[in-house]
Amino acid sequence: MKKVAIIGGGVVGLSSAYYLSELGYQVTVVSDDDQLKGCSYGNAGMIVPSHFIPLAAPGMVMLGLKWLLRNDSPFYIKPRFSKDLMSWGWKFYKAATPAHVQNAMHVLKEMNMESRNLYLQLVEEESLDFSLQTQGLFMLCKTSHALKEESIVAEQARGLGMNAETLSAAELMSMETGVEMDVAGGVYFPMDAYMVPGLFMSGMKALLEQRGVNFISEKVTGLDMRGSRITALQTTADILRADEFIVAAGAWSSELLKTLKVNIPMQGGKGYSIMVDQPPVYLRICALLSEARVSVTPMNGAIRFGGTMELNGTDRTVNSKRVGGIYKSIPQYYPQFANTDFQKSDVWVGLRPCSPDGLPYIGRFRHYDNLIAATGHSMMGMSLGPVTGKLVSQVVSGEKPDIDIAILNPDRYN
Ligand SMILES: Cc1cc2nc3c(=O)[nH]c(=O)nc-3n(C[C@H](O)[C@H](O)[C@H](O)COP(=O)(O)OP(=O)(O)OC[C@H]3O[C@@H](n4cnc5c(N)ncnc54)[C@H](O)[C@@H]3O)c2cc1C
Repeated sequence: MKKVAIIGGGVVGLSSAYYLSELGYQVTVVSDDDQLKGCSYGNAGMIVPSHFIPLAAPGMVMLGLKWLLRNDSPFYIKPRFSKDLMSWGWKFYKAATPAHVQNAMHVLKEMNMESRNLYLQLVEEESLDFSLQTQGLFMLCKTSHALKEESIVAEQARGLGMNAETLSAAELMSMETGVEMDVAGGVYFPMDAYMVPGLFMSGMKALLEQRGVNFISEKVTGLDMRGSRITALQTTADILRADEFIVAAGAWSSELLKTLKVNIPMQGGKGYSIMVDQPPVYLRICALLSEARVSVTPMNGAIRFGGTMELNGTDRTVNSKRVGGIYKSIPQYYPQFANTDFQKSDVWVGLRPCSPDGLPYIGRFRHYDNLIAATGHSMMGMSLGPVTGKLVSQVVSGEKPDIDIAILNPDRYN
């Protein structure tokens, strides 16, 4: 059977390894496996069919510019001269159109729904336990303006065949016994779900090891070529030959592919999460705080809060003002929390692999016979992990993909 080498051991790399090994391929995952570095461990763990609107959408450019003026806002671009960043920004600006949203939403919804099914299947068929909860998600709005905007999204969701309900503050609180919410209202998306991402990652890795998937903890430094074929990858210590190569290196994928003169524009979208182990009140339903862009995920008795998007290359330093912005926003929605609840928590940093049009890169590269992209999932990589893995296995085997991935063509900027 063919040998497949996967660069990157995040949720996308592991999911690809799983579906490829199911088809009988001999799989090796090569990842410079510092768990703290990858984005797939400390994220908010939400599975989000509700996220069918890509980041590049009308209104986002103006909102981004407004946020740039505040040092604790949820969005930031570190001022610096970078050709890559300017080119990425221009592509984002051009993609943020109603037509793009219209084209993208069907594929995003279909992928998220299919991934949700695959997560459920993994629980049932593999007995993987990652505390998957299927109670849905609240989009909480403090202002009537935000509530109006989110209600329009709910209407679009219903147009796509998904359930979504606009609820008053009292209705929201009746679904979360004992939890106070200081909000104008919110939208309930019952098809969304959440999990503990670290548990999924460790469980999946152990399962893959049992199945004979090989793991190499090294950094990939280059790829060897003959004609239009990749023959091997070089790591800091060794050379690994394979028949097919999958690039699932998250925010670092574009850097790696530059060595082949392949252009997949990407910026690391830095975000933070904080775990509160003994919250003053426990939640059942995960939530997004609409104006603050903060995620709230119950995790086995604790609560994880996440937020901010800083376009900052691959820099991973913690900006305490932005983290403070997350702390400040939570009691504004959930008054039972106080700023002091967060002081003891360590801050986790992750880099979302952000493409300028908000869509992943999945598929074969035109100019290479055996090179496949599986990256660029921005804020939805955890949600889209399993479906991406399944699609990658279909691309490798030459089977028709379950979902039409033409719009995700990795050569779209080449
Ligand atoms: C605060 C926050 C909250 C989030 N919440 C959610 C959420 O609720 N739901 C959701 O769907 N998504 C969420 N995300 C986004 C999600 O975490 C990412 O989209 C996803 O984890 C990306 O997975 P990946 O496998 O592509 O990349 P990663 O997990 O980053 O994995 C890439 C791996 O490749 C390795 N690597 C890189 N370069 C090389 C190289 N040259 N050689 C070898 N290895 C290499 C890296 O070390 C890393 O381990 C969140 C992100 C953040 C920051």
